[in-house]
Amino acid sequence: MRIVFLGPPGAGKGTQAQRLRDYLGITHLSTGDMLREAHQAGTELGNQAASYFHLGKLVPDQVVVGIVSERLAQADCVNGCLFDGFPRTVAQARVLDAMLAEQGMPLELVVALDIPHEVVFSRLASRGRPDDAVATVRERLEQYHSLTEPLADYYQRQGILRRVDGTGSPEAVFERIKRAVELAKQPSG
Ligand code: AMP
Repeated sequence: MRIVFLGPPGAGKGTQAQRLRDYLGITHLSTGDMLREAHQAGTELGNQAASYFHLGKLVPDQVVVGIVSERLAQADCVNGCLFDGFPRTVAQARVLDAMLAEQGMPLELVVALDIPHEVVFSRLASRGRPDDAVATVRERLEQYHSLTEPLADYYQRQGILRRVDGTGSPEAVFERIKRAVELAKQPSG
């Protein structure tokens, strides 16, 4: 299956994506992880990206699309892929659709994790990542609201969006995600 995880920073995308990766045995593709790894490795792309993510801003589409298209060309993506933190703009979503169409493997499901703002803030505050400082978190939520949230409509129109309540224990959230996945596997969608 090809699945996108959508949700604000702190919604639990990473945790849930890892669980779902193990459950379905598919590749987990996190652009945030890839950008942080590139930065730690000191590559030019990594340093360029860091100047954005340290401020809580989205990295430019062409940079992110470049690393995703390289990653998608690798063999382990053929059996299925879980996109976590990508796409984050409608432009990225269009490119992803085109790349997957070329491979004859369109997206089957978009899981949108719904979570109230207060919960997001307290979760991020306890996480302690360098880009989790209050001002940066605010900027990331702002970017999410203006650039990423419109993706819900984009995928709703494609009929593949499933909203999942992201509150409660990680186990409870995962049970809801599994239900959405099982529904999507059925021929009627
Ligand atoms: P994440 O770990 O998904 O929260 O991503 C951390 C940071 O990396 C984000 O705040 C962005 O600056 C950057 N980033 C990750 N994925 C993308 C993407 N698809 N488009 C643009 N920027 C991204």
